[in-house]
Amino acid sequence: MGLKFTILGCANSYGVPYAGNDWGDCDPNEVRNRRTRCSLLVQSENTSIVIDTGADFREQMNIHKVKTLDAVLYTHKHSDHTAGIDDLRIYAIRNKAPLCAYLDSDTLDYIRTSRDYILETKVKEYPAMLTTHTVEPYGHFTINNDLKVQTHSLNHGSIISMGYRFGDVAYSLDMKDITDNRSFDALYGIKTWIVDAGAYKSEHNPVHATFDRIIELNQKVKASRVILTSLSNRIDYKQASSELPDGYEIAYDGMTIKS
Ligand SMILES: [Zn+2]
Repeated sequence: MGLKFTILGCANSYGVPYAGNDWGDCDPNEVRNRRTRCSLLVQSENTSIVIDTGADFREQMNIHKVKTLDAVLYTHKHSDHTAGIDDLRIYAIRNKAPLCAYLDSDTLDYIRTSRDYILETKVKEYPAMLTTHTVEPYGHFTINNDLKVQTHSLNHGSIISMGYRFGDVAYSLDMKDITDNRSFDALYGIKTWIVDAGAYKSEHNPVHATFDRIIELNQKVKASRVILTSLSNRIDYKQASSELPDGYEIAYDGMTIKS
C-alpha cells in the first residue's frame, strides 16, 4: 500500500456555514460546501498521522473512525489549527505513551505558554500528553521508521507556516505566498499539491493566497493536480470549480488522494 491522504476539513477559520447558518455565496444544498476546519489525515499501512487539530478535530476523528494516531504535525500556531489539541489526550492514553508532535518553535512556544499541562505533568492524574520534536523549515524527518516527511516554509502574513511533503504529495497551508527558492526546491517533483487559496479573488487578503497566485506559483512548482483548500463561505464548490483550469480542483471534506 502507498499513502492515503484524507482531507478531514477544508474550511477557513470560520467553518462553513459560518456560525448562525451563514452560507454566504455557498449553495446550502451542495454537500461539498459544508466544511470543517482544515486538517489532513495521512496513512500508510502501519502509520497514521494528522496535520493540525482545529476545533472540529474530535468530530473529524469520529466521522473517519480514527482510533489510533502515531503522531501529530502542526503547520502553525493559529487557533483554527490548534484549538482541538486537548482531544489528542485519548490517543496518548490508547498508546500508553505521550503522542509525538512535530512543530516549529513558534507553535511550540504558543502551546507551552497557553496550555502547559499538555507538555508537562502538572498533577499526576493528568500526565503530559505530547512529546515534541521541533522541525526546521528545510528539513527531513521520519515517523515510525516508515513515513518520510520533508518541510518547506510558507509566508502567512506576519508569521511563517510549515508546509509538509510526503513523497509526491505536498500540503502547504496556511499561506499567502512563497518567496524562498528553497521552498520551490522542496516542492520540486510533486504531483499533487494541496494548497491554501482561501483569498479566492481578494488580493487584499493579508494572510491567504488568491486562486490566481496559486496558478502563478504552480508554473514553478509544476504539480499536475492542485487541490485548493482553506475555503470561506464566499467560495461555492460548483461555481469556483467552473472557473478553474484543468488540473485544479476545489477541496471538500472527506476527499481522498492516493499516492
Ligand atoms: Zn493561519
